Amino acid sequence: MDGLTVAAAQRCVIEAMKQLGAESVPLQQALGRVLAEDVQANRDQPPYDVSAMDGFAIRSADVANVPTVLEVIEDIKAGDMPTKVVGAGQCARIMTGAPVPQGADAVIRVEDTQALSDGRVRIDVSVKTRNDIRDRGENMRTGEVVLQAGTTITPGVVGMLAMVKAAQVSVYRQPRVAILSTGDELEGLSDPFDANKIPDANSYALMAQVQALGIAPVLLGIARDEPTHLKEMLQRGLQFDVLLVSGGTSVGVHDYVRPTLEALGVQMKFWRVQMKPGHPMAFGVAPLTWVFGIPGNPVSSMVCFEEFIGPALRCIMGHHKHFRTTVTAKLSRDVKHKHIRTEFVRVMLRKEAGALVATPTGDQGSGILRSMAMAEGLMVVPAESKGIAAGEQVTVQLLDGTAFQSEAGGEC
Ligand code: AMP
Ligand code: MG
Repeated sequence: MDGLTVAAAQRCVIEAMKQLGAESVPLQQALGRVLAEDVQANRDQPPYDVSAMDGFAIRSADVANVPTVLEVIEDIKAGDMPTKVVGAGQCARIMTGAPVPQGADAVIRVEDTQALSDGRVRIDVSVKTRNDIRDRGENMRTGEVVLQAGTTITPGVVGMLAMVKAAQVSVYRQPRVAILSTGDELEGLSDPFDANKIPDANSYALMAQVQALGIAPVLLGIARDEPTHLKEMLQRGLQFDVLLVSGGTSVGVHDYVRPTLEALGVQMKFWRVQMKPGHPMAFGVAPLTWVFGIPGNPVSSMVCFEEFIGPALRCIMGHHKHFRTTVTAKLSRDVKHKHIRTEFVRVMLRKEAGALVATPTGDQGSGILRSMAMAEGLMVVPAESKGIAAGEQVTVQLLDGTAFQSEAGGEC
């Protein structure tokens, strides 16, 4: 069998990756990035014991026998500092988040009290000491590491960063990604319409796949299947951290991409992967650049991105979870498998009686991009499978969403 298994090729790609150092970004632009440094708390939060409820700060000993009536000595709102000490038979009206006054050791929520016409308050329940009091520093303590390097910045993390006043955040640098399509048959998006040409879909599908990871790639355009022009375009691409080259990696007499890359000093790590679609996939490294040679068929191009390039970019960005989340689903109809390669079948997913059901998105030819446009997942058919019958359990890589996992799913 020619080429690496999918799992071996994924390992080879990931092992070749590294982070690109750190940069500082404003908090407003940090979502989706990865922390390059530990973050410490610079204050106790909350800064003092505060009330967890709107109610009354009391002495728990005073409410051992209820009902009982207490004198209200002051009103404390969030943002106020108490000015009085709560003595025996006294309480303070207190709002959520306001500091608990000296003398008080518990809070009783307003729902368990009754305001009396003379300004005093009747307490109807007994509570233990510390009831409804949030401890000073329960959220974070000065000097404590609250976020570790390597943490993906989610909305919750953004909130934590704001809490430690991190207006600038140290994150791993994103790779600069270039995309080059190759092929004399291709028509660019703004080229005049020519019915004999093939529209360049791959530049844009790849662009969108890169964008979905939060990276803005640069489109280099279309290189002709001609060594001198191709070399020129590839040289431009090799100025970037990552170069994606679509087409021209196969065995056609005009497939110049691999020899030209080699002539430019790219060391090819592998060519061909035991997968369908995507067999003529190539990967190489240059001094400054990771280079992916991607088969030109539009579905192959997108599937190769999912299996190798997305995980590689996530690794460079500092993420620990590189691979698409997988789910187990029930196959809705028979799927044949005659190959000895791992197959990625495009499927739609629906819930039926609480279980996920996967249905292939029609014709699975590697040029039929509609199968990918409709797909919610890639069903992994292991290389050794003799076909999968309706009702059997299958592994599906989810194509949408921002949740990822550490290991590739399915038996690739
Ligand atoms: P190749 O890998 O260069 O042999 O290309 C295989 C086939 O994929 C070509 O015959 C085209 O039909 C198609 N193809 C190649 N590049 C693109 C592209 N950028 N966009 C859409 N289809 C493409
Ligand atoms: Mg070509």
